[in-house]
Amino acid sequence: MGLLMKIIPLSEGAFSIDKTKVFVPFNKETDDLQQRALGSLLVEVQPFVIITSKDIILLDTGLGFSNADGVLQIHQNLINNGINPMDVTKVLLSHLHKDHAGGAAKEDVVLKKQYLSFPAATYYVNKQELAYALQTGKPSFTPDEFMILETAENVSFVEGNGSIDNYIRYETTGAHSPYHMVFWIEDEGEILFFGADVAPQLQQMKSRFVAKYDYDGKKCMELRTQWWKQAQEEHWTMLFYHDIKTPYIAL
Ligand SMILES: [Zn+2]
Repeated sequence: MGLLMKIIPLSEGAFSIDKTKVFVPFNKETDDLQQRALGSLLVEVQPFVIITSKDIILLDTGLGFSNADGVLQIHQNLINNGINPMDVTKVLLSHLHKDHAGGAAKEDVVLKKQYLSFPAATYYVNKQELAYALQTGKPSFTPDEFMILETAENVSFVEGNGSIDNYIRYETTGAHSPYHMVFWIEDEGEILFFGADVAPQLQQMKSRFVAKYDYDGKKCMELRTQWWKQAQEEHWTMLFYHDIKTPYIAL
């Protein structure tokens, strides 16, 4: 048995979110669940960093908020876990909703110029998702925050299904957004699965329901059912970007 992959969740906190698509910070200790706006959801926002034998991989980039010193939250969270953001080698983007792609780039407030937040990494972005997001805009997408992906040098555009370096598989599932992607990372006999917003929380894997916020809620439901079965048969480790309690589970 070789080295196992290391999974580090990079939680940016819990948020309540409703139709307006505004992420309101929610304190799990002190805020009252009942006080949330009617029909709002409670979600964690939680990118992951995966250390494999070949790469340091970031799965989605969070909200892109900065702290009082102007440091990106995702940079600070990496540093807190002993990882220099310059050492990230791959950034895999499931889709470009603002809670997943907000930290992809950062604007220098003085120079008014955008930079990729992970300049030493290759970004993997679905080409059609980018076109769709730029065209659709707010409130779900914030094009200002990722426009640079269109022209930056270290962006690798992907479409459909395929593989990266023979050990990362991707599929364009659509379902949550028209060109949403999911990823499998297979290293040393271990299979990690990142279903992003088609499979955002553990509880959702176990119940059949159609969510209104999905582009194709029925397809999301079918995919969740299929993956949950397959995950158990093939002993995947599943990562849950929006789970309040369980960032990942090894089956
Ligand atoms: Zn989303």
